[in-house]
Amino acid sequence: MIGIAEAFSPRYAEARQKFLAGCAAAGLTVESHAHPLAGRDGEALAMDVALDGDANAERLLIVTSACHGVEGHCGSGVQVFALHDDEWRAKAKAQGVAVLYVHALNPHGFAHGRRVTQENVDLNRNFLDFSQPLPVNEAYAELHALLLPEEWPPTPENQVAMSAWIERHGATAYQAAVTRGQYQFEDGVFFGGKAPTWSNSTFRQVLRQHTAGTRRLAWIDLHTGLGPNGLGERIFACRDDKAAYARANAWWGTPAAPVTSIYDGSSTSAFLTGLMWSAIYDECPDAEFTAIALEYGTEPMMEVTGALRADHWLHKHPEAPADLVASIRARMLAAFYTDTDAWRGQVISQARQAMFQAVDGLSA
Ligand SMILES: [Zn+2]
Repeated sequence: MIGIAEAFSPRYAEARQKFLAGCAAAGLTVESHAHPLAGRDGEALAMDVALDGDANAERLLIVTSACHGVEGHCGSGVQVFALHDDEWRAKAKAQGVAVLYVHALNPHGFAHGRRVTQENVDLNRNFLDFSQPLPVNEAYAELHALLLPEEWPPTPENQVAMSAWIERHGATAYQAAVTRGQYQFEDGVFFGGKAPTWSNSTFRQVLRQHTAGTRRLAWIDLHTGLGPNGLGERIFACRDDKAAYARANAWWGTPAAPVTSIYDGSSTSAFLTGLMWSAIYDECPDAEFTAIALEYGTEPMMEVTGALRADHWLHKHPEAPADLVASIRARMLAAFYTDTDAWRGQVISQARQAMFQAVDGLSA
């Protein structure tokens, strides 16, 4: 057992070091999928994978961090804490569940303090069949130029135009338009890409390597940036399948707080396209699959989207002055990682509960 605060890190390099040390302490072998690029400080990047349990286990729980790079401060903390948590490890082992930790699905975004991959792609909108026509997000096309104006901070004219759009269509429609995923504007926000990203291809390889014998598969994918601060929303993360939803809700829901869904409007998340879980149906078609995204709130939606707009503006304007660069980066970190012990405590307690519930569900 380690202290909760000790499990978290303000920098990618430190988070990775803690993950590797946690694996070593737990006696686990790490396979590192080296990333072709470096971090902001020149550090090496990798998607690090460790299996705790029998390689041939029929029951497997996958716990992933940093699908959305900068959200990895949260997910990495959960993984590091779990590696040192003897009670948790003993429970999974006793119930015949192997646990696959994938640290930093998107290490480039994590190390650069961005939500997207090095391709400027939202990894959780990138899992589509790119040989087919891509979804068209018309509302995003209306908003793109307003979201990423020439000047940052936005001019009063930009703010008036943006407010007018939101007033006309509502905050929910704004969130849906911006976050749903778009495939037309490569420099835009929530861009799903034109081809599979490095993280997409590498994660598929990890799945093929570790799920050949899996009969029952669960996945908890750790995210931040939506909902009330510190609350971990359990968002159903499978295809729209009634049996899978019933299972997810039986494992992770309560009558007062059912597992939420993007299919029926019960989630604070909008309906999204190109989601990562679709890889499971491609790579592990024979496994019974049950999954949630565990989505922790940080700041209000308008502040989070504001931070993302600033981040994308900066990506287009590398000539920005150093003080503006620093303030945008600090704003991004705050939007996806609440740096308090209270928040970290809420993160660990809710993730730990969800992981225990997954093991009970898988072994029932
Ligand atoms: Zn996320």
